[in-house]
Amino acid sequence: MNILLLGSGGREHAMAWKIAQSPKVSNLYIAPGNAGTSSAGTNLAIAADNFPAIKDAVEKYAIDMVVVGPEDPLVKGVVDFFEADAELSKIPVVGPNKIAAQLEGSKDFSKQFMVRNNIPTARYQSVTIDTIEEGVEFLQTLEAPYVLKADGLAAGKGVLIINDLEEAVSELKSMLQGKFGAAGNTVVIEEFLSGIECSVFVVTDGKHYKILPEAKDYKRIGEGDKGLNTGGMGAVSPVPFADAEFMQKVEERIIRPTVEGLDKEGIVYKGFIFFGLIKVKNEPVVIEYNARMGDPETEVVMLRLKSDLVELLEGVAAGNLNEKTVEFDSRSAVTVMLVSGGYPEDYEKGKIITGLDQVEGSIAFHAGTKVADGNVVTNGGRVIAVSSYGASKDEALAQSFANAQKISYEGKYFRRDIGFDL
Ligand code: ATP
Repeated sequence: MNILLLGSGGREHAMAWKIAQSPKVSNLYIAPGNAGTSSAGTNLAIAADNFPAIKDAVEKYAIDMVVVGPEDPLVKGVVDFFEADAELSKIPVVGPNKIAAQLEGSKDFSKQFMVRNNIPTARYQSVTIDTIEEGVEFLQTLEAPYVLKADGLAAGKGVLIINDLEEAVSELKSMLQGKFGAAGNTVVIEEFLSGIECSVFVVTDGKHYKILPEAKDYKRIGEGDKGLNTGGMGAVSPVPFADAEFMQKVEERIIRPTVEGLDKEGIVYKGFIFFGLIKVKNEPVVIEYNARMGDPETEVVMLRLKSDLVELLEGVAAGNLNEKTVEFDSRSAVTVMLVSGGYPEDYEKGKIITGLDQVEGSIAFHAGTKVADGNVVTNGGRVIAVSSYGASKDEALAQSFANAQKISYEGKYFRRDIGFDL
């Protein structure tokens, strides 16, 4: 079969790497892809949210299945675009439709969904400019720190955690007055939860689900998990604290009620669900849903997924995921993200990357890279995800760190403490 994968990050390189291993695949295309995805398939110079151009590519390359990597095309309705077209509607798209993607696209929607379905999550109140006073009253009932979230997508920047009540009230006002644009027209105020976080992933056909390997990511730019939030500086799988007992609770209290709740509410969800969890006094609580795989977690999840990903995706499309099996690699997998100097604030692009051919015993999944004048150059904040297996987490990390040293470009930075807390 011919597959079209949408996206251009490390997540998509890792998915392309895995999809290309399937004997079921004749041709893999990635739109737009990066300098690394072209080693797993053919890059198409089409933006992941340019739906008319995607339609042309589907026809031109006789695509049998589309797999969506990032949230943007999902929230903009790529699945609905396919469903509304007589010809395209025959092509399965792995990803939720616009309404289902609201699990990620609207924090207010996802909180209401969790409350309706008795899924454990932090106590909250959603407010708009008209109900700001209720928001202030709710803040007064909480203890510091205060959590304020813009309802819509804000590129990971729409969550504020504030220690002082007065400051929280003033930030609430500025969010509702447009600090994050329309994404902040509604603000979710949440009780602060204290615990350790991990990410759990499932793939679902809307009725059945399969749990994929769990992972822990490292969001902050600085070692010791300090400094500004990033897209993610590294990830580790398995997560020792997500033991069988914890995962059983996650499945019973969170995963099953989520998939059943979506089905019961008539929300057709075919694709990946990312559960951002926090372990509070040994109990799992949902911090957020994402309507797609995480990045950089995918770089370790794909390493640990032994089963044929395409076989699972066929199960998603056909609605018979229950007939498929998922096997995990028992080894540890880690990824260490090499980023551009200055990231997550301003950084330069176009720096020539050398040493990729020296990498041995790790896989260098490309994130923000492209080919320019015959060179692989940096093209984003996150550049290369150096991903490795190991008999233990420490062995895998030693491998990734050794290979991270071999890759060079001006301004390269990476955290040397990924996995430090596990
Ligand atoms: P992402 O970039 O992960 O998609 P996001 O902008 O969608 O993030 P959340 O995941 O809801 O927002 O929150 C970002 C981070 O803020 C969480 O990973 C967590 O560390 C912290 N956080 C969010 N809500 C809470 C809470 N109620 N209590 C404690 N920490 C929280």
